[in-house]
Amino acid sequence: MTTETGTIVNIDLKKIREDFPILKKQVNGKPLIYFDNGATAQKPKAVIEAITKYYSEQNSNIHRGVHTLSREITVEYEHAREKIQKHINARYVHEIIFTKGTTDGINLVAHCFGKLYIQEGDEILLTEMEHHSNIIPWQLLCEEKKAKLKVIPINDKGELILDELDQLISSKTKLIALTHISNTLGTINPVKAIVAKAHRKNIPVLVDGAQAIPHTKVDVRDLDCDFYVFSGHKVFGPTGVGILYGKEKWLNAFPPYQGGGGIIKTVTFEKTEYAESPLKFEAGTPHIEGGIGLAVALDYINEIGLEHIHIYETELLQYATNQLTAIPGLRIIGTAKEKASVISFIVEGIHPFDMGLILDKLGIAVRTGHHCTQPLMQHFGIPGTIRASFAFYNTKEEIDVFTEGIKKAISMLR
Ligand code: PMP
Repeated sequence: MTTETGTIVNIDLKKIREDFPILKKQVNGKPLIYFDNGATAQKPKAVIEAITKYYSEQNSNIHRGVHTLSREITVEYEHAREKIQKHINARYVHEIIFTKGTTDGINLVAHCFGKLYIQEGDEILLTEMEHHSNIIPWQLLCEEKKAKLKVIPINDKGELILDELDQLISSKTKLIALTHISNTLGTINPVKAIVAKAHRKNIPVLVDGAQAIPHTKVDVRDLDCDFYVFSGHKVFGPTGVGILYGKEKWLNAFPPYQGGGGIIKTVTFEKTEYAESPLKFEAGTPHIEGGIGLAVALDYINEIGLEHIHIYETELLQYATNQLTAIPGLRIIGTAKEKASVISFIVEGIHPFDMGLILDKLGIAVRTGHHCTQPLMQHFGIPGTIRASFAFYNTKEEIDVFTEGIKKAISMLR
């Protein structure tokens, strides 16, 4: 298709929408309009089929058996890990650890890094726009070690105030943890520049990529971050699986996160010798079909091309922003210059929850509430927002229906 700016993008909407069976669904008698991609994305047939195939033809445990099924699925699982390594351009495959998701990856780093490197009085630097998943693990660590959390503030557009960074970093700063893209505001943070600045002071950086991975090309070597975490389910893959990328030097130094089968070289009652990364961090039977399904999801988006996805989603964002700003009383929360296809808004005199319920009656799925970013809500002095988050299978026609739905809800609720 050709966009309004004349760019040709490889988005065949008809075909793409065919690939996602759920998009044919009716909700409350209306065609489903799914604008809650920030919470979880829908799955293409290729992913659903990979999971079905696993259970109907391949089910077996990995890394353990000599029998054919086990050997074959081990090869496929490790092949999935290699695909993920290539997708984010990690240097080594052993820098890719399968986790349960973004939250699990952050907890792993907080636990292992904290155990080795955090002492009383040390500081960990976050930002005001973090998801609770990138706040609470650090808070728990700080409570345990009597360390301190510090926060990079944002301006009223929802951009980080980086002028304050120099002042916030001290000789006690041991780690910076920040989101690549805000799930609530859509702000794309200048992660590469922040990493460069942190590294000049020998401070490692963890990047929460939960919202970035479905929208942008992530290159961990280019970003030079120390850790990068994301979830499968937000990038059109299965739930219950995610990735922690960690630089080799950290993963070699870290102790295991959890004890269990699969992480060892030898065990006696006196002492256990651990396997190297990634197995050292993958105790117990993993989410086998999840890892395989995640690699299939990445293949799927790579076939469309992240550059094309970016162009198309930017156009959707622009279109929706224009439509929504024309509605009297509607205020968009998060107007950063660099933004992904996420729009949070409030409407004067209307509770987001009530708006969400009316939109649902029209078959439109949006998220309402604080989006697990309560400190951000406190910054803006609001209890919550209505959030529409778009994926490449969404359309301008859906945005038109959404806009009319908001207008209808306003007339009903006022
Ligand atoms: N960080 C961000 C920015 C998120 O958007 C989310 C999910 N909403 C998470 C972390 C947590 O992801 P998960 O629940 O998949 O672990």
